[in-house]
Amino acid sequence: MTERLRSFTLGLTRTRQQVFGRLVNAIGAGDIDGDTWNELEGTLIQADVGVPAAMSLVESIREYVRASGVTKMDDLQAHLRAELRALLIDPQVFTLSGDPTVILMVGVNGSGKTTTCGKLAHWLQTEHDAKPLLAACDTFRAAAVEQLQIWGERAEVPVIAGAANADPGAVLFDAVSAAKARGANVVIADTAGRLHTRFNLMEELQKVRRVASKAAPGAPQHVLLVLDAITGQNAMAQARAFKEKSGVTGIIVTKLDSSARGGMVFAIRQELNLPVMFVGLGEQTEDLQPFDPDNFVAGLLEN
Ligand code: GDP
Repeated sequence: MTERLRSFTLGLTRTRQQVFGRLVNAIGAGDIDGDTWNELEGTLIQADVGVPAAMSLVESIREYVRASGVTKMDDLQAHLRAELRALLIDPQVFTLSGDPTVILMVGVNGSGKTTTCGKLAHWLQTEHDAKPLLAACDTFRAAAVEQLQIWGERAEVPVIAGAANADPGAVLFDAVSAAKARGANVVIADTAGRLHTRFNLMEELQKVRRVASKAAPGAPQHVLLVLDAITGQNAMAQARAFKEKSGVTGIIVTKLDSSARGGMVFAIRQELNLPVMFVGLGEQTEDLQPFDPDNFVAGLLEN
């Protein structure tokens, strides 16, 4: 087993045990009637696969079983694997094209944004040989700035922060200038997840985007929406709002290791048509993996 498959298999334990493993076992037990199929569909919907994908999956497996009369578990596993894989697109290559490349991390508080900024900085250093720098653009919460500083130390990257309640756009502008001065080629900006009612979160994000485009040509190259897998359908509702208003280019699904709702990844593809770029599989610096559909599906079904 490769290292990457191992981390997907470990990280997806809950979703596998509570959802896809049950599916495989139920079908494998033979004795299937109409109720079993309804139950399977319900299990998939509970795992936040989304109603359309759950219905089409169950229908396809049902048809396969009827047509082939399969009794061999291996054949069925292979069919299920192919069907699940077909619901996902090919992996997207994460590119660093800017000078510097600016990455805006957006999402609601608690989704894992700050943690993911640190993990992404680590990943970019180890996999891309990049020189990242973190920008503390969530200036509305002092705790958020402190937490980003802790992650900066862990990932061994500089953190640019402003004074309390500084303008988030000004902090980003400073961070881009600092990157140019220090030869850093990536700026990862942690943005606010909730603002005081006077402010409008989406408007603030649009402002930060505009500042980014003035500070460096073509920026921001990536707007990554961080979604907490534990919150399932709620995260999907957030994603629709962010997609419409803040020009999201890709999704990072965090906390897959603590969630049985990993099926959400299928719903993101089917209902939002946005690429999942990375997944969070734990709380350590190295627990961020580029999303790999083959390993993801294998991790859902592996015994
Ligand atoms: P923010 O408010 O969006 O910046 O969220 P934080 O980065 O502060 O994260 C909120 C909580 O989620 C923290 O306790 C993190 O340790 C935890 N967390 C973030 N990503 C993951 C993950 O992939 N797996 C697990 N198990 N916990 C995570």
